Amino acid sequence: MYFNKNNNFFHGIMFHHFHDNSIHKNSQGSLNKDDFYKIINFIGKKNILDANLFFEKFKHNKLKENEVCITFDDAIKCQIDIALPVLEDLKIKSFFFVYTSIFEGKPDNLEFFRYFRTNYFNSIEEFYENFYKILDKDLKTFFKKNQKKIKSIKTKFPFYSVEDIKFRLIRDTFLTKKKYEETMFLMFKEKRFNQKNLLKKLFFQKEDLNELNNLGHIIGLHSHNHPTMLENLNYEDQKNEYEKCMNIISEILNKPKHEIKYMSHPCGSYNKDTLQILDDLGLELGFKQIMEIEVERGMNKVNNSHLEIARQDHSEILKRMN
Ligand SMILES: [Zn+2]
Repeated sequence: MYFNKNNNFFHGIMFHHFHDNSIHKNSQGSLNKDDFYKIINFIGKKNILDANLFFEKFKHNKLKENEVCITFDDAIKCQIDIALPVLEDLKIKSFFFVYTSIFEGKPDNLEFFRYFRTNYFNSIEEFYENFYKILDKDLKTFFKKNQKKIKSIKTKFPFYSVEDIKFRLIRDTFLTKKKYEETMFLMFKEKRFNQKNLLKKLFFQKEDLNELNNLGHIIGLHSHNHPTMLENLNYEDQKNEYEKCMNIISEILNKPKHEIKYMSHPCGSYNKDTLQILDDLGLELGFKQIMEIEVERGMNKVNNSHLEIARQDHSEILKRMN
């Protein structure tokens, strides 16, 4: 049984990467077609609402505690190649949250980094080891100072390993984005990896967005540049992130902006400014990416507001199935 006392409230199910071992290699946390069928089966197809129905029921306060919807983040091509045929087979309509710098040919380097990690190292541990070696900084004190934080992140995001969390802390707080990317590019060089020509293979094209829309799936915002810590940006920069994203989606789909009412927070990162900006843009449904009540943010319920609806990561479901 998927539903239990810890998740007896409506929420989204969050998916990112898929693999088929031809175009898309098996990578950290990725699913194949069969895994996807099994997860849907485990949740129970009757509990999975089409995206538009989920929204309608949400708006009218009619969602039941065992009702969920399926969501995809980041506009990555493997979702079209592997997950979409399953959705169409089962006649499930989902949310796709896309960041839009992709459509200007400037995706975040995140996916290239992931591709590199997956294709040029035998394991994620080997990658971390290489990264720390090239970075060549004393990290012991930093990890020691952040012991408590690492523990609390592990509780919030149980699907990350401690090594993943440590790496993310180094990437997001110890290093600047610039320094992090420089280190990665040094590694690219060392392994003679060239990320050009991968754009089409890794990311949605404009046609994909239109295809999804025509099939009845719902496209929503996920910022323009996909910053890992959006909450650290000032008000104006955050506003730009979402306005630009909305303008580009509206233009590609040839749809008025007021019809785009849905979003998910990149890396789950937002603050009061973000929520104000999203409200001003007329967004009516937003997803975070955790299932917990964040007491430190002053929350007393899990679906804290229309822009803070909980999502379960697929890896957590997989764990429970096994
Ligand atoms: Zn994302």
